Amino acid sequence: MLKNMLKPPLASGRAPLQTGRMPSTCPHDCPSCCSLDVDVLSQTEIGRIYGARDQDYTAGVICAKVARYQERVHHPDRLTTPLIQTRTKGDRQGFRPLSWDDALEHLSERFRDIADQHGPEAIWPYYYAGTMGHVMRDGLQRLRHIMGYSRQHNSICTSLVQAGWKAAVGAILGPDPREMAESDLIVVWGGQPCPYASQCHDPYRQSPQTTWRKIGRC
Ligand code: SF4
Repeated sequence: MLKNMLKPPLASGRAPLQTGRMPSTCPHDCPSCCSLDVDVLSQTEIGRIYGARDQDYTAGVICAKVARYQERVHHPDRLTTPLIQTRTKGDRQGFRPLSWDDALEHLSERFRDIADQHGPEAIWPYYYAGTMGHVMRDGLQRLRHIMGYSRQHNSICTSLVQAGWKAAVGAILGPDPREMAESDLIVVWGGQPCPYASQCHDPYRQSPQTTWRKIGRC
């Protein structure tokens, strides 16, 4: 069952992809949920990525992280096959590639051995969001439930922040970044809008009465 769940999607059966500048949505789980314009070069290659021009939230602007997606997705050093650790003392490489079938066989055997020896709760399929869609992210729960593996309280990265927001503000919410243009004072505390949410400060920059005072690092 594990083998079937983890097998990579088949390339056949997909509708042919259109090329050109295509509308899309950022895959990150950041609250902005930015609309994108993506240059699709072929079935397997993307070009530049822009904030969607026809959406007033992005208005053609996108954060630096996602603007450079093309470099990461098509980087020659990107992993494309499973690797198994072979590290022995003094071996600096420490990994060798193996086929998907072998990797899945290896994993299912290890999972079975661990569950037989220590019980299924000795396995914790850790996951959380970031760049996953709902199907990819929550699909793992099917494996967890059917096999009786250990569970988790959803996220280990945002729970603290959410508790803080609820304690201090009463709810997890914030103003619409487009309203920043109307603000007299903006305090950015513990965040880096330049690389991570550049569109948030763009409306403020465009405001005729804008005066920037940078009093810390950004
Ligand atoms: S700010 Fe960047 S990471 Fe967040 S949704 Fe927009 S494009 Fe994605």
